[in-house]
Amino acid sequence: MAKKQFKAESKRLLEMMINSIYTNKEIFLRELISNASDALDKRHYLSLTSKDHQVDRKDLTVTLTLDKENRQMIIEDTGIGMTDEEMEKNLGTIAKSGSAEFRKTLEKAEDNIDIIGQFGVGFYSAFMVAKKITVESLSAEGGPAHVWISSGEDGYTISECDKDTIGTKITLDLKEDTDDEKYSEYLEEFKIRELVRKYSDYVRYPIQMEVTKSIPDPTDEEKTIDTKEMETLNSMIPLWKKSKNDIKPEEYNEFYKAKFMDWEDPAKVIHYSVEGNISYTALLFIPGRLPYDFYYQTYESGLQLYSKGVFILDKAKELLPDHFRFVTGLIDSDDLNLNISREILQQDRQVKALARSIEKKIQSALEDMLKDDRENYEKFFDNFGLNLKYGIYKDYGINKNKLQDLILFRSSKEGKYVTLKEYTERMPEDQKEIYYACGSSADEIEKLPVMSRIHDKGYEVLYFLDERDEFVTQIMRDYDGKQFKSVNTSDLDFDSEEEKKEKEEKTEANKDMLEAMKDALNGNVKEVRISSRLKDDPVCIVADEGLSLDMEKYMANDPMSRGQGMKAVKILEINPDHPVFAKLQEVFAADPAKLNDYADVLYNQALLIQGLPIEDPVAYARKITDLMVSAK
Ligand code: ADP
Repeated sequence: MAKKQFKAESKRLLEMMINSIYTNKEIFLRELISNASDALDKRHYLSLTSKDHQVDRKDLTVTLTLDKENRQMIIEDTGIGMTDEEMEKNLGTIAKSGSAEFRKTLEKAEDNIDIIGQFGVGFYSAFMVAKKITVESLSAEGGPAHVWISSGEDGYTISECDKDTIGTKITLDLKEDTDDEKYSEYLEEFKIRELVRKYSDYVRYPIQMEVTKSIPDPTDEEKTIDTKEMETLNSMIPLWKKSKNDIKPEEYNEFYKAKFMDWEDPAKVIHYSVEGNISYTALLFIPGRLPYDFYYQTYESGLQLYSKGVFILDKAKELLPDHFRFVTGLIDSDDLNLNISREILQQDRQVKALARSIEKKIQSALEDMLKDDRENYEKFFDNFGLNLKYGIYKDYGINKNKLQDLILFRSSKEGKYVTLKEYTERMPEDQKEIYYACGSSADEIEKLPVMSRIHDKGYEVLYFLDERDEFVTQIMRDYDGKQFKSVNTSDLDFDSEEEKKEKEEKTEANKDMLEAMKDALNGNVKEVRISSRLKDDPVCIVADEGLSLDMEKYMANDPMSRGQGMKAVKILEINPDHPVFAKLQEVFAADPAKLNDYADVLYNQALLIQGLPIEDPVAYARKITDLMVSAK
């Protein structure tokens, strides 16, 4: 029989498993039992939906056998089984674990043994403890049965074999013990019992093992004799059916990690039951980290759906609104039809009601977290905040009210996170609007010319560090009746009456000069005017109503809107208290034509400060040099 080779990536993984020095090798049992449990789920579901595949629920089991003499451990299930083609496909390559993230990690992983624990790499993990693996299987779809055999790197064989019962039997020939590693412990009852309890207690099918029990000897009361007896090792109650009070946090965490393929504890567990029109139990998790592909199309969101404890569907995305699509977990309802399909799911009224109820629960769970566990919430927001913001501007802001109190912004108050509620509650009385400034970092924003004046006024500014933030607030329009206002818009108004008057006078006195500067700038600005927002800097650019400066920047970089050349209407503001202002007056009085160069240089400077490109950098540089040379 010809040996087949593993696919390249699988081979790497396999090598890692075989040579693994990972200390937590015991997880192999969890992985194999979890595969068996999935196979049992599939068979159970098939039997409920197809007359030709009837099976008694009580016959759906996993049986563990420990054979000390032959150093073998056998894991046998009565699940769906595999055909030879399926064996080839499933065991010849990494299945789920073949995901891009895994591959990437693998590439970098030369000696990073941790990834085994991180990914829970399925079937192949058995090679951490076994030198040879034999998989015999008969598919529920029909025979003949096949056996897959592999001793590791040199490939595998698949051939027909005798097996009368549907399901899969995996025989592990355990490695020899070494000084560091005692593989024999996997042949000890107590060890296996402990591992099943630890990792697989919630599996909803009996995991059985023949165990040795000591009973009193009937012929001699003083003595005991050993008998063999089948025992179910797991409690079988699905975790979500247990009472919340009986569940330890570690149990939730272990369950989450094993079932939803994560290596980090969840940020939040949401476990509840609802009685009513549609009764259901939900066990939901907010992951503690951002899945690497969360913002890619490959990411599949959705909840697992169970009906009366029977698994029906994975990744039912109809149960989750898009803005909460980071939530994973499961829903178990007695009121749903077992035959429910993906198509029905999309239209079903009950499902819609269910989804609404789930949405509300997630929302209030997040609100609680924000209120009671701020640190954790901020971490969550770092991971998934962007998705909440998407939720606000999607569909023209239809979900604004649900989400606006869940988003956070960093602010000029020590750079800390603030909610809109907190911001508006602590606004000084004379502040009418919510101020924000866009930039790629707090530092960049703090350097904006307008900031020192704002600090003097005692106003707080939201940092819009994400280029989408401005879109979000444009969709929102206002929060609690207060408009969002960029510190770079032309009509920013926080002058006192006195200051206004002073500004008007200065404008009047310098009218001709300002007009001349505007003309010098050839239509690049709508107006040149005296500023009251500047303290230390000579000039700044602000945008008139309409497109903001930051949107112009965003669109210039965005492939979708590049080329349309949309520009903000700009206004150049000059600080009348800056020495350069006096210089301008002097130049204008002596040689009005020379003012052109000054206007041009100042305009370009303002663009640069704002992070906007200048049109002709060479000309700008030359003018600066000329000015330096002519300076006395
Ligand atoms: P994963 O479980 O992450 O998909 P595995 O490498 O553990 O990856 O398993 C690969 C595939 O092999 C499974 O998805 C399943 O289709 C199949 N498989 C593994 N064990 C069994 C089993 N006991 N019965 C039926 N199919 C199985």
